[in-house]
Amino acid sequence: MKKVCAVLLSVILVLCLGFTAEGKTEKIKFNNPDFIRGMDVSSVLSLEKAGVSFADKNGNRNELFRILARNGVNYIRVRVWNDPYNSAGNGYGGGNCDVNAAATIGRRAAQYGMKLLVDFHYSDFWADPAAQKAPKAWAQLTLAQKCTAVKEFTLSSLKTIKAAGADVGMVQVGNETNSGIAGESNYDTFPQIFSAGSEAVREFDSNCLVAVHFTNPNNADTMKWYAKLLDEHKVDYDVFASSYYPNIHGSLENLTEVFTHISKTYGKYTMVAETSYPYTLGDTDGFGNLISEGSGSDAPDMLWDYSPDGQAEEVRAVMNAVNNVPDGKGLGMFYWEGAWITVGDTTGLSGNALTEQWKKNSAVWEKYGCGWASSYSAEYDPDNAGKWYGGSSVDNQAFFDAQGKALPSLSVFRDVFYTHGDVDRDGELTVADATAIQRYIVALESFDNLQLGLADFNDDGVIDVMDATAIQRFLVGLQ
Ligand code: CA
Repeated sequence: MKKVCAVLLSVILVLCLGFTAEGKTEKIKFNNPDFIRGMDVSSVLSLEKAGVSFADKNGNRNELFRILARNGVNYIRVRVWNDPYNSAGNGYGGGNCDVNAAATIGRRAAQYGMKLLVDFHYSDFWADPAAQKAPKAWAQLTLAQKCTAVKEFTLSSLKTIKAAGADVGMVQVGNETNSGIAGESNYDTFPQIFSAGSEAVREFDSNCLVAVHFTNPNNADTMKWYAKLLDEHKVDYDVFASSYYPNIHGSLENLTEVFTHISKTYGKYTMVAETSYPYTLGDTDGFGNLISEGSGSDAPDMLWDYSPDGQAEEVRAVMNAVNNVPDGKGLGMFYWEGAWITVGDTTGLSGNALTEQWKKNSAVWEKYGCGWASSYSAEYDPDNAGKWYGGSSVDNQAFFDAQGKALPSLSVFRDVFYTHGDVDRDGELTVADATAIQRYIVALESFDNLQLGLADFNDDGVIDVMDATAIQRFLVGLQ
């Protein structure tokens, strides 16, 4: 009986989590064929300057964006700060994400077929529910002047990013703007900032989606109130986005309900602009993490294991919750900073050895801006970043280990949609796929990056006749 119960329980668990016993991701039937499976990698340039590099799950070093594309990521998100530098020209950290950084990231993403979501904070550093400080240059502007500045900055930045070769598909006018935007906190006036940003996006490219971004969907009535406020002020936008961090943002059922209400009432698309989940509760850079043992890890909606499998399950569950918004109005999701790993692994170190490595890491965070904040941010944000600056607080939520090697969970972005090996993407693994791989090997056929990811059927990092053979053997039940 005990054994039967255990088997039943595991079957129920597998059904609940959407995973088969082999750990393979169960696919989602997406209502929106272009469902966004995105990732924010805003800190990548400063990480690379500091010496970080990335590898696929077989350990082969390669361009981060190529690795992401082959694993099914189809959209990249990047934040833009107006001027994240102090008076001496030193970066505030957090990737020193200015317009030029966004342009470079956008160009590299486009080289691998991925679109770009440009996330304007309209601030010189982090904008979130606790901080919506105006950029230094806008501090003394009136509301009308600020609207003009927002419009001009948005338009000129987008032109720069596009000119670099990026494929801008969506623009976020503000980031987690619950308490205001660009220093405007009056609910009667701050929608004008959204409108100014939106006007710029429409002028830039009429095909580009305009997104607004709020957070704390657990406060469902407040979220709905924001949507009503924007409607009352006739703010012109397409996508209502929210963050979803399961340690603080309630259940996914609630998220779907909030999104459904907003899409049905105002006709908007909905989207998760940020989510993430730990693959471990350990730390790898010597700077404490947002979620660690006993800190956030025991929250009621942290439903999945702290393992790569658990991380993949969370991503699948968030996609599913967005997909459950009716009429294809669930546009997609972005994973937040899935590549923000360490520059000097502190795993297993303690005492003096840990202190010494932490000192080395601190010097790198200061020099390259690859921690969440540097001491140079004190001029702009003396009470928070200027005091608590340091490394990455989400290195345990990345899709890469401390050496930059992709975790097995990364392929969830591909596996929710496609069958591994199904290179012709007709939904079935057949001999035609094996044939297509053979034709690719002799250069009779070309594959895009996603197809290249699907073609590596035996997962050895190389596409060769072994993959075609493995598919054929699998089809006749030999494998
Ligand atoms: Ca850390």
